[in-house]
Amino acid sequence: MVSLHDFLKFCKEYLRSKGIDSPELSTEAIFAHVLGKTRLEVLLSRQDLSKDQILKIQRLIQRRGKGEPLAYLIGVKEFYGRDFIVNKDVLIPRPCTEILIDMCKSFYSKDNTLFFFDIGTGSGNIAITLTLEFPNFRGIGIDISGPALDIARLNAKRYEVNDRLSFVQTDLLSSIQANTADLIVTNPPYLSPKLLNGASPEVINFEPMNALFGGPCGTELAVNILLHSPYVLRPGGRFLMELDSSQFPEIIELIESQGCWKDIKLAKDYEGHDRIICVEKV
Ligand code: GLN
Repeated sequence: MVSLHDFLKFCKEYLRSKGIDSPELSTEAIFAHVLGKTRLEVLLSRQDLSKDQILKIQRLIQRRGKGEPLAYLIGVKEFYGRDFIVNKDVLIPRPCTEILIDMCKSFYSKDNTLFFFDIGTGSGNIAITLTLEFPNFRGIGIDISGPALDIARLNAKRYEVNDRLSFVQTDLLSSIQANTADLIVTNPPYLSPKLLNGASPEVINFEPMNALFGGPCGTELAVNILLHSPYVLRPGGRFLMELDSSQFPEIIELIESQGCWKDIKLAKDYEGHDRIICVEKV
């Protein structure tokens, strides 16, 4: 018999020896996932593990040891205080994207009724969070990837927002009718080859490239979305987009040259870098 306590220690040491970030968190979360317990229950447990439990844990710990992101191994990632189902077909939601939700909260209240598009919805984390935080919002999440939309629909079902949120498989905004939206939000693929070079192997080797790579300059998809958005938005509508801080000068120049936007606002991420841009359609 192997005690949970001893195996937990062994697995933490194993991940530490492999140079994995936060080996404690990964190990405890994998144990919790396999055993159907919370992390606290895992830490307090004095039980022994069955052979089957050990095998299941061992398989996941080995994958984590090879750098596979924890979220893909346990199948969930928290975003804005809620768990979202994720798999290798979707980008893992990032804490910095929560700033986009906070920014929406600075403009809108729970009483506001509006219609939004989320471009490149992935797991649906942004669209679903907006629908839950604002009970009168309705929206459509669009993505080019069918498998990503399967995950978004699972998440929408889990949070029972199907009556106010739907998903459409299409590429960017070109097929969307004019003057239909009050709000467009997007965390587009925006990494350039240079930014990809600086990303960690966990990201490059495991997350979907079509959710990361924005083109040779990184900003190609962002520019495409920005060029179409004025047609889709009603006057007074807002556009919010996440980007890398290095990309804002080019994007602000484009916004200014379009002549149809006012009130450019930038919000910084937790590291103090510009991360979200918001503009209002004149
Ligand atoms: N909307 C999702 C997110 O913000 C996915 C974005 C993407 O795939 N680029 O996490």
